[in-house]
Amino acid sequence: MSQIKNEFDYVATIKKGTYWFPFTANRLVKANPEPRMIVSAKGAYYQTINGEALFDTLSGLWCTPLGHGHFKIAEALKKQAETLDYATTFQMINPETVRLSARIAQKAPDGLEHVFFTNSGSEAVDTALKLALGYHRLKGEGQRFRMIGRERGYHGVGFGGMSVGGIVPNRKMFASGMIPGVDHIQHTYNREKTAFTAGQPEWGIEQAQDLERLIGLHDASTIAAVIVEPVQGSTGVIVPPIGYLQKLREICTRHGILLIFDEVITGFGRLGENFAAQRFDVKPDMITFAKAITNGVIPMGGVLISDEIYNTFMSGPESAIEFAHGYTYSGHPMATAVAHVVLDIMEQENLVERVKALEPVLQEAVHDLRDLPGVLDIRNIGLSAAIDLLPVEGKPGAKGMAVFNEGLENGLLLRCVGDTIAFGPPFISTPAQIQEMMMKIRHILQKLG
Ligand code: PMP
Repeated sequence: MSQIKNEFDYVATIKKGTYWFPFTANRLVKANPEPRMIVSAKGAYYQTINGEALFDTLSGLWCTPLGHGHFKIAEALKKQAETLDYATTFQMINPETVRLSARIAQKAPDGLEHVFFTNSGSEAVDTALKLALGYHRLKGEGQRFRMIGRERGYHGVGFGGMSVGGIVPNRKMFASGMIPGVDHIQHTYNREKTAFTAGQPEWGIEQAQDLERLIGLHDASTIAAVIVEPVQGSTGVIVPPIGYLQKLREICTRHGILLIFDEVITGFGRLGENFAAQRFDVKPDMITFAKAITNGVIPMGGVLISDEIYNTFMSGPESAIEFAHGYTYSGHPMATAVAHVVLDIMEQENLVERVKALEPVLQEAVHDLRDLPGVLDIRNIGLSAAIDLLPVEGKPGAKGMAVFNEGLENGLLLRCVGDTIAFGPPFISTPAQIQEMMMKIRHILQKLG
């Protein structure tokens, strides 16, 4: 095995384009592939093929809050593979998956205690959108087909998620494939009004009124659901203004529109509560989750569903169509086994509480960078933060790329989206690691000017 490995020319294969990197400027990576090869990971650090350690500043892609290489997870995977590696999920039940649904429901907001498992965030979003359509149809309101997303929102790459998503480059190429009847409310990003706010901005509750505009345009009777990330993660930790999510909830309730929180990033502790719905004290009708539930080790996602929606599906006429939806790997036994260990560790090590304790450490360390040249805005909430950088004139994204490359030189695996750096370190991080990460960012930004 190792011989094959040594003989294999990875660089040539990448340069040839045999491996197509997801969500990556493939042309740039092909030119310089070596520094990006990660061969192992332990705790909060990756190791590159060149032997360098890189601090995991975004917990993978927001998905490895416990850090890497946890022996309890490895053990559970081995044991599960030997016991039940797979069984059909249609009609049959794996008792551990049933138990997992109960554990997740117990952490969810009251009344959102029904779980439908998927394998990813994208699948969770599309499942929630389909549930919304089915719910209204069963209620005799099949004309409610419209979905409303939000500008700058990210909801995965399925046709549904892409359509409700609000990131221009993700939509442009596939404009002809959008699902019909989707509209978007305005985002709440406003540097003039909210720059350098720690936590939730005071300004912006009025942005929720934009939903009334779309209701006025389309009529509420045609609208099935509104989907938002409580904190917009992928477009740079855009924190909801005080009262904003409450306002959305109010408007949706008034008009019989379902509210979906996409908590693929915020679910399972990122904001110091199990779900953002609890942190912001707003109860949506559905919550999507993924990522942290299996610590990124193996894919799993799902939707938490309200009693009202669940009961509507269960109590319709006998002739009502069942929810004709599910995946070969819904509630996969291997993912289930990992999820149980993840929840065990989170509970035993009080990791959600730890996030609460780390929040002020990250807040202070990141806002300490506000006077550096080229820093336009800094935001943070829970164990997440972002820094907006002044773009290089005429070259959007070039500054972010330069920072990313400097990060590799300085022991940081960074996530730069355009010219914004996003941070979401593992929950197991120490205060010293968080401070060191920001010291390195200071050094990088000073160097780049
Ligand atoms: N929704 C949100 C809010 C996300 O952040 C993501 C992934 N970053 C997704 C959906 C899609 O998840 P996946 O990549 O697992 O399909």
